[in-house]
Amino acid sequence: MISLYGVSKRYNERGSREDQGFEALSSVSLEVGQGEIHGIIGSSGAGKSTLLRMLNGLEKPDDGEVIVNGQHLTRMSENSLRQARRSIGMIFQHFNLVSNRTVSGNVCMPLELAGVSRTERVARGLEVLRFVGLEDKANQYPAQLSGGQKQRVAIARALASRPDVLLCDEPTSSLDPQTTSGILDVLRHVNETLGVTIVLVTHEMEVARKLCNRISVMKEGRIIKTLSEAEVRSIP
Ligand code: ADP
Ligand code: ADP
Repeated sequence: MISLYGVSKRYNERGSREDQGFEALSSVSLEVGQGEIHGIIGSSGAGKSTLLRMLNGLEKPDDGEVIVNGQHLTRMSENSLRQARRSIGMIFQHFNLVSNRTVSGNVCMPLELAGVSRTERVARGLEVLRFVGLEDKANQYPAQLSGGQKQRVAIARALASRPDVLLCDEPTSSLDPQTTSGILDVLRHVNETLGVTIVLVTHEMEVARKLCNRISVMKEGRIIKTLSEAEVRSIP
């Protein structure tokens, strides 16, 4: 479902020469199977977010190939990339909801941008809100919701476009342990019921261990180890 081959990314520090940049990713290769939940773990600055942004084409590698669901993101025009992104959902640590729109308005936004008709938007909006257990909050505003509810809305918004892949960037890092556990249940439900492949970036091994089939460990821009399913299950 997802393949990265020798992906490198260099950021030029201010005032540095072109060739003296700092390497945020160094020749990263990774395969994620269809229906897998793959964790990316590592300390701050390891390159996790940069890697995740590669997977929906928000970031272009200097070297290497990124292929998601048969689509070569690295070789696409901006236009095709916009199209491809519709099959790749993303959620964030701080939810990134639009505060002046209702829950239902937030959830339907990607569908508006994709030109989906109003009737279809309303139907799909309700369907995904029901999926995350928040159909009764459709007309409320983000400020009226708890952190866990906001993240459920963000998950619903990502699902509205019926993605094949869901990218999660520290989705539970702003949440308390009990709420975290609820969000992990929703993500497991998304994976099992809808067959969505999930890549989860976190700095918490406990979160990765509970949800993921396999876990890649990043350090200084490299994947230094990928734990197999058996290895993940044996983490105490
Ligand atoms: P992580 O998600 O593991 O904390 P990041 O991928 O955010 O790591 O960052 C990896 C490294 O790249 C960090 O040192 C970070 O400061 C740097 N970095 C990330 N994005 C940029 C950018 N747009 N410009 C310059 N440096 C960046
Ligand atoms: P988060 O906690 O949301 O991952 P980060 O600090 O890692 O926050 O990154 C926030 C944004 O800032 C990202 O878009 C990233 O690309 C950018 N960024 C991170 N580090 C740097 C840096 N050293 N220089 C420039 N931009 C950076």
